Amino acid sequence: MGIHRGVITIVLGAVLWLPSFACRGNAPSPRGSAVSPSASPSAPALQDTPATAARRSSLVSSIAFHVRLSPRVEQALLTVPRHVFVPPEYQGEAYSDEPLPIGEGQTISQPTVVAMMTQALDLQGNETVLEVGTGSGYQAAILSRLCKRVETVELLPSLAHRAQSALRAIGYDNVTVYVGDGYEGLPPLAPFDAIVITAAPPEIPEKLVRQLRDGGRMVVPVGPRDDEQHLLLLHKVGTEVRRTDLGAVRFVPMVRGRRVPD
Ligand code: SAH
Repeated sequence: MGIHRGVITIVLGAVLWLPSFACRGNAPSPRGSAVSPSASPSAPALQDTPATAARRSSLVSSIAFHVRLSPRVEQALLTVPRHVFVPPEYQGEAYSDEPLPIGEGQTISQPTVVAMMTQALDLQGNETVLEVGTGSGYQAAILSRLCKRVETVELLPSLAHRAQSALRAIGYDNVTVYVGDGYEGLPPLAPFDAIVITAAPPEIPEKLVRQLRDGGRMVVPVGPRDDEQHLLLLHKVGTEVRRTDLGAVRFVPMVRGRRVPD
């Protein structure tokens, strides 16, 4: 089964194209088509005004107080309009340094945490990155400014659909959103230069470590559902996986996917 751009469904490890997403609003391109932003019932607020840019700039200054940012990561944070990834009712808080609800009981991560995870990956520009837990699409958007390609997997179709719509609306076309269980990763596209997991598994997902290339980095919040989780940076060197604890965090749980009915 081929891999197509746009929102894609994964069933038990197989990657499938979901035609109902392909056909909304736009004629499908030869490789499948993205969701049309205007077809979305909650089309993102796109306008980036001097006011939103100024609020973003002061947010980035406050992040830089806690996280040592490289110029590239700082520039990505200054560039990506977070308000496009935030639901309309939370627009006023889009540039506060806090997580916000995005529906389905999920959240867009706190900007400082996005900055910390992105910085830890140390992207140089030529990488293909796997993200597990697309959510709003904001972390994927930040990554997409810093590497060649982002492949991002989301368990919940409604969120995947909305994230893809937001990414397309602002023209970030080096990101592909997949619907599926991120515990499986994306075997046909492995190995990845870097992997970022934005939901917390109880233990390090070994299947995903196997999809990391030699020399690659993975950032993952590991820990139980209601207890303390730790953000781990894993660095794969040959058969060894070196581990650095980046500190205590709180993420929504990474849950096991169910088989999508035929
Ligand atoms: N990176 C996101 C934040 C994601 S919140 C952002 O920038 O907005 C975590 C997301 O992980 C949720 O959307 C949740 O549905 C998703 N998730 C949880 N378990 C998953 C799994 N097994 N596979 C893929 N996504 C998963």
